[in-house]
Parts: sequence; structure tokens; C-alpha cells
Amino acid sequence: MTKTKSFISLNDIALIIIGAGASLLYYYFERALQASPNLSVFITIGIILMISLCTQILINNINRSKEALREANETLEVKVKERTAELRESEIKYRTIFENTGAATVIIEKGLTISLANSVFVKISGYKKEDLESAKSLLEFLDTKSHRKIKREEDFSHQGQNHQVGAQNFECKFIDKYKQQRDILITLAPIPGSFKSVASLADITELKKAERQIYHQAFHDTLTNLPNRALFMEHLNMAIKRARRRDDYRFAVLYLDIDRFKLVNDSLGHGVGDSLLIAFAHRILESLRDIDTLARLGGDEFVILLEDIEDSDYASSVAERLQQELKKPFLLDGKEVFAPASFGLVINTSAYAQPEHIIRDADAAMYHAKERGKAQFKVFDKTLHEKALHLLQRETDLRKAIHTKEFENHYQPIVSMENASLVGFEALIRWKHPQLGVIHPGSFISIAEETGLIIPITHLVAQEACADLQRWQTRLGNKLILTVNVNISSKHFLRTSLLKDVQDILDSSGLPSKHLKLEITETALMEDAEETIRLVHRLKDLGIHLVIDDFGTGYSSLSYLQRLPIDTLKIDRSFVSRIHTHPDGNRNIVEAILSLANRLNMVVVAEGVETPEQYEILSQMQCRFGQGNYFSKPLPKKEVDELINKIERLRCPDKNLSLPDILAT
Ligand code: C2E
Ligand code: MG
Ligand code: MG
Repeated sequence: MTKTKSFISLNDIALIIIGAGASLLYYYFERALQASPNLSVFITIGIILMISLCTQILINNINRSKEALREANETLEVKVKERTAELRESEIKYRTIFENTGAATVIIEKGLTISLANSVFVKISGYKKEDLESAKSLLEFLDTKSHRKIKREEDFSHQGQNHQVGAQNFECKFIDKYKQQRDILITLAPIPGSFKSVASLADITELKKAERQIYHQAFHDTLTNLPNRALFMEHLNMAIKRARRRDDYRFAVLYLDIDRFKLVNDSLGHGVGDSLLIAFAHRILESLRDIDTLARLGGDEFVILLEDIEDSDYASSVAERLQQELKKPFLLDGKEVFAPASFGLVINTSAYAQPEHIIRDADAAMYHAKERGKAQFKVFDKTLHEKALHLLQRETDLRKAIHTKEFENHYQPIVSMENASLVGFEALIRWKHPQLGVIHPGSFISIAEETGLIIPITHLVAQEACADLQRWQTRLGNKLILTVNVNISSKHFLRTSLLKDVQDILDSSGLPSKHLKLEITETALMEDAEETIRLVHRLKDLGIHLVIDDFGTGYSSLSYLQRLPIDTLKIDRSFVSRIHTHPDGNRNIVEAILSLANRLNMVVVAEGVETPEQYEILSQMQCRFGQGNYFSKPLPKKEVDELINKIERLRCPDKNLSLPDILAT
């Protein structure tokens, strides 16, 4: 260490003091000498002694101070050395951390200038280190949207530089020298007591991609990649709000359902069905403007939001144009497939506040279009709205009715045509509505089917029918063996629960399965051929008889019926009712059905026999069983109880006694 040379040394000061003291003494000595010469000699000697003593003391002190100063200097030097080493170590430590965090990290000055960048940052930036440090701002690497986020935070953290401000995270877009973009998460932490911050950048491009994918999946249909219901509802909601703000803004909603899509699926397979849905979506999209939204609601149902339309005619013309487009075939798997669709249209959208209500009404209009035939379109109007309200009310009432048990079974006797003797009953549901009185099934079964309420309702009917027949059969013993028919809806038939439900009901009622017959329509049997065949066989294994109801009104094929173990055909009432009014035509049909049934080993029940003529003709044709008002109307349970009493009371029961005769007694 170099010693600093001061201007005046301690020895010099001591000499100056001694000199000054000597000069002062000399002055007093001069004056004393003038006053008394002897005294002066003594004083002079004394003074000289004193001066030399003081000088000695002074010199000693000076030497001691010098020693202390030297020691202090040495200690200081050691400490400075230690501190410097510590600082160097600490800097190495922090630099190592800064360099090796794994994340791109920069130190930024106020104003976001980069003062230090680690090698990862250098690499992702595409610049050289020297072109970055003190030369570039972090903002130069971010898109404008990210600028706002980060600047706000930077200002805030520096305002509070005396306080402890925690680190903040920002999701930003990073743009490198070559304009390559990536998603990054910036963690910005101010360095306390300075105007600097540390920014570390993590690449989250993959994460954001996954996030976007998840978001996309949540709002899009995977098959067609079209928006799904949730996204459509959002668009519709925005359209409703826009229409409220702007008088000149109108929109319309189109609901589409492919006619007979199920047929394509069943006959050509699900793969072709899927291809058809994709091709269908493309063709519709091509005919729409960019601002319109086409969404798939599920299955073969699609919706279109027509935005910013001039008037209602425009929406109708779009519907017509789309229907024209759909007249052209789709070429799938080398086959030409047609996919006409039924359309429901809601034009007067200003009346709505809820997107769900628009969809509901467009759906209702589509439903009515379908009822009118294929490839039709229907605009929703007030009458449809009233009908929809009515249906909604019915549905609510039906739900309540199931809980409060407002249903009861009536039983229509089935007789042997030979002598009109009783062989069994068909259970027919009646709804005792608290306000509307008795409602017949024709007015509520279809709603029950659509809402799925048919399942609990059928359960109630079957339970009651089995319990009632078990009671009656117990009373009759072997005198007369009866059966009960329960109607099973086509919507219910292929439900996997049917088999178990039937078994449970038989178990709880104690009725042997041979007494139960299930009536199924032809359409139900045609639904899913393979599944139907399996189910029918399993029901048969349980010992349950199966009946085809309303035969002649569906499309069942003979070869198909042959594969099913069906016992009975019920000729539809429409053929029976005209058997004597249009003798030629209907007689031939009924005869054909009878011979067909014969060939298939099935027995036939003629439904809706109303007159003695009909009875006569059918008997001649060897039709074995009949049901209709001519024999008996459907009877309430109480009346069947009385009928059973009468049969029971017959002392010598004649199995061949005609039902009308017994009823008349
Ligand atoms: P269906 O199974 O064909 O029942 C025969 C219908 O014809 C019954 O009408 C019956 O009252 C009526 N009918 C019987 N004989 C005559 C007659 O001589 N003349 C006339 N004009 N009609 C006659 P209902 O009870 O109104 O039932 C109508 C339909 O409702 C039934 O037709 C059946 O398909 C359905 N249905 C009835 N009960 C149930 C049920 O519990 N579940 C299901 N899924 N459907 C049911
Ligand atoms: Mg029936
Ligand atoms: Mg019938």
C-alpha cells in the first residue's frame, strides 16, 4: 500500500510549536532582563529545561500516534481486502445464477432498456450480446398488446421502489430478430433500492397451443369442426344484444335437420353417415356469407345464425337456396347419397331476450316442417308458439301426473272369434287430469315419448296390468286362462332397461310370464334390425309373448318378420273398418295378412271390430281373435272386477260363453 504524503508532517508541527514557544519566551526574557539580570539567568535556564522537557514529551506522543495510525491502516487494509473478495465471490455467484437459470433473463433499466442479457435471452432474441446490452429495449421484442401490460407494471413498480414490490407475471407475445413469434411468460421483479428490474422469460408456446386446443374442443364439434351449441349460443346472445343497441340490425335463425339420416347410417354404415355430415356442413358453409355462423347441435341437427340481414325475405330466400343446393347428391364412398333437410326459421327475433327460446322455436318450426313432409321449411309464427306453450304445459302436467299417480288402466277384452269368448285384455292407459278430466293416450303418448316420460309411464301401466291380472287369474283358477297385453312404445323398445324392467314387474306381481304379451309396432321392430332380433329372442326366452300392433300401417318386410319369434299380428283397425264398405280391396288385404300370418305360424287379432258384419266376415276368413267395441269397449278396472265376478259365479263355467252375453247378464 502506498503511504500518502501529507503537506506538513507531525515533526514539522512540533518544531513550529517549539519555535513559537521559544520566540515567546525570548520576548518575555528580554523584558525580564531589562528589569532584573540575575533573575533572568535563572528563568532562562528554567525555561530552557522546560522547553526541552516539553519537546521530549511531544516527540514521544507523536511517535505513539504514528504507531497507532500505522496499525489502524494495516487493519483497514485487511478488511478492504476481505470485503473485495466477498464482493467478487458474490458477483460470481449472481452472475452464475443469472447465466444458468435456464430461462432467458435480462436486467432492465428504467424505460425498459436492457442493460444485461444472459445467453439464453441472447439466443432467443437472435441478436449478438453487444447489440443488445444498453442498445435495445425489452419492448422491441414484444407485440403492441404486450407493451401496454408491461409498461403499466414497470411504472408502478418504480413508483414504489422504496416498498417491497413483488414479482408480476405477464403472458406476452415475443418477436425475435427474424420476426418469429412465440408465447412467453415474463416474470418482472424490481430490484429493491434501484431503478432496475429483472425480467425472466419462459417459453409457453406449447402450453398456449394446448390451451387453445382445449378451448377449441370445448366450443367446436369434433367431427365437422363447426362451432358447437355452446359457441353458437354465445354468438346468438351477442346478436340479441346488438339488435337491442342498433335499430337497423336484424338477424334470423335457421334450424336444419337432415331427413332420414338414420336410414343412411343404418344402411350404409356410420362411416358413410359421418362423411355425409361433413360434406353436408361444407355445402351449407359454401352458401353462406362469412358473417353467418353454422353450428352443429349434435346428430344430424344444425343451426345457422344469419347476421345483419336486410329483411325477413332474405332469410326465407337463404332457406330456399339451401334447399336447392341440397337437392344435388353427395358422392360418398362411390355412392350417390341424397340428404334433403327440413328447415325451421325464426325471423322475428326482436321479440326474444333468451337465445334458448329462439332455438326452441326454430326447432319447433323445423318439427312442423318435417310433419308436412320431406325437404320443407316452416317459419315460426304465433300459432306455433301457442302450440309450443301448450306442449310445454302438457309436459309439466305429465311429470306431475307420474308423481301423483293420475293414470289408470282401462282393459279392453280380446275374444276368440269362434264364439266371442274372453281370452284376455289389452291394457290401455287413461289420464285422469284434475282439471281437464279423462285424457286419452292419443293426446299425450307422443309428448311422453319425446320427453322420455314414456318409460316411467309404461312402467306404471305394466305394473298395474300384471298385478290386476294376477289378482283376477287367482280368482278364476283353472276355469279360464287369461292374458294381458301391454303397449310398448317404439322409443322405449330398444332401451336396454326394458328387459330388466319387465322381469322386475313380473317378479313383484307374481304373474307367470306366459300371461304377459307385449305389443310393439312394426316401426319399432324396424329400428335396429340386429338389436331388435336379439331383444325379441331374450324376451321370448323369458316366456313373454310378442304381438305386432297396428299391422299393415308400417313397412315391415316379410323376410325380416320371418326372423323374429313373434306370436301374434294385430290387423290395424283401418282395414277392419272398411272390410264391408270396400269389400273388394280391403277384404283382399285382410285375406293376404291372414295367409301371411298362417305361413309365419302367427295368430291374428282383428282390431276395432265394431259391427256384426265385420265379425261375420272375419270369422268366415278364419281370423281367430278379435277386439273392438262390438265385443266390449275398454273397461275401467271396477267393471272388469264385476266381469270376473260374473264368470266366477257361473256354476258350471262354460269356457265358450260369449263375452257380450256375460256382460249383458
Ligand atoms: P292401440 O294399441 O292400437 O289400441 C287400440 C285403440 O283402439 C285403443 O284406443 C282402443 O280404445 C281403440 N279401439 C278399440 N276398439 C275400437 C273400436 O271398435 N272402435 C274404435 N273407434 N276404436 C277402438 P286408445 O285407448 O285411445 O289408445 C290409442 C293408442 O294409444 C293405442 O292404440 C296405443 O298405441 C296407445 N296406447 C294406449 N295405451 C298405451 C300405453 O299404456 N302405452 C303406450 N306406449 N301406448 C299406449
Ligand atoms: Mg295396442
Ligand atoms: Mg293397435
